[in-house]
Amino acid sequence: MSDLNKETSGILECTAGKKRQGYIETLDVRSSNIGGGLTIRRALPHKQRRMIGPWCFLDHFGPLDLTESEGMQVGPHPHIGLQTVTWLFSGEIFHRDNLGYQQSIRPGQLNLMTAGRGISHSEESPLKAERTENTLHGLQFWIALPAEYKDIEPAFDHYAELPQLHYEQHDITVILGEHDGQSSPAKQYSPAVSLDIRVKGSSEFELPLNSEFEHALLLISGDVAVNGESLLTSKLYYLGTGHNKVSINSKGPVHLALFGGEPFQEQILLWWNFVGRKQEEIEQALHDWQHGDRFGRVKGFNGEPLIAPELKVKLK
Ligand code: MN
Repeated sequence: MSDLNKETSGILECTAGKKRQGYIETLDVRSSNIGGGLTIRRALPHKQRRMIGPWCFLDHFGPLDLTESEGMQVGPHPHIGLQTVTWLFSGEIFHRDNLGYQQSIRPGQLNLMTAGRGISHSEESPLKAERTENTLHGLQFWIALPAEYKDIEPAFDHYAELPQLHYEQHDITVILGEHDGQSSPAKQYSPAVSLDIRVKGSSEFELPLNSEFEHALLLISGDVAVNGESLLTSKLYYLGTGHNKVSINSKGPVHLALFGGEPFQEQILLWWNFVGRKQEEIEQALHDWQHGDRFGRVKGFNGEPLIAPELKVKLK
């Protein structure tokens, strides 16, 4: 995914979350259309809370009916200093990058792209004739790389299967990190977790959390209260460090996404598709995308590379 929304392509400074105890903070999520009828709900970055653990960007896209749409068609664009996590609930996305990877992703699978010092990629829905599902629905998260790893070699990893935990009242897929003794194979550079949680029906249970992490919950569908608070799909729910569990009380089937991590200790700059520490890093990446060969070429995408927005201001 690329930050295609010009309204949000401004200065976005990410800072580590403040330590907060004992309550759930409700954050608004901004909705926008990035073309092709595809609606995204952007939970991060948020004015009040730029990061949650190392997570600095969170888009919930769709559900989009593909019968009348080309779906996702995001042309080649660059990234630096981050990892992208793509997780689908429905549909399929085809990834291409300048390293030569061409990979389809389907629900239950993870695409993890590590930009490091620089990568470029495209993301597209399959052609209509090749589609097996007519709804596109999923998440894309970005993880900021700690400074010591920001210039690592770019990489792309596809995980066809992830660990699953089955309980009486719910099932969990461990997308990233560890939960209840099960660890995702996804390569990570700072302590973090991401879970896909499916509650089967009306139920009441406790979900254990790592109390050293801050967390956020996103409701994908269903009627649920967490610590007594009813959740909406239009909000993001933040839990500071110090929670070792949350209580889940559902009426019928519920689908939740949880992500978290150790509060990120560094100040970062997030501009367009770049994570950096200094203005010069961002400016250099922008220059290299428009004029250089640092990001290589993405082969096979039927369309032009994206043009970066102008960087006219001093980032801080
Ligand atoms: Mn992208």
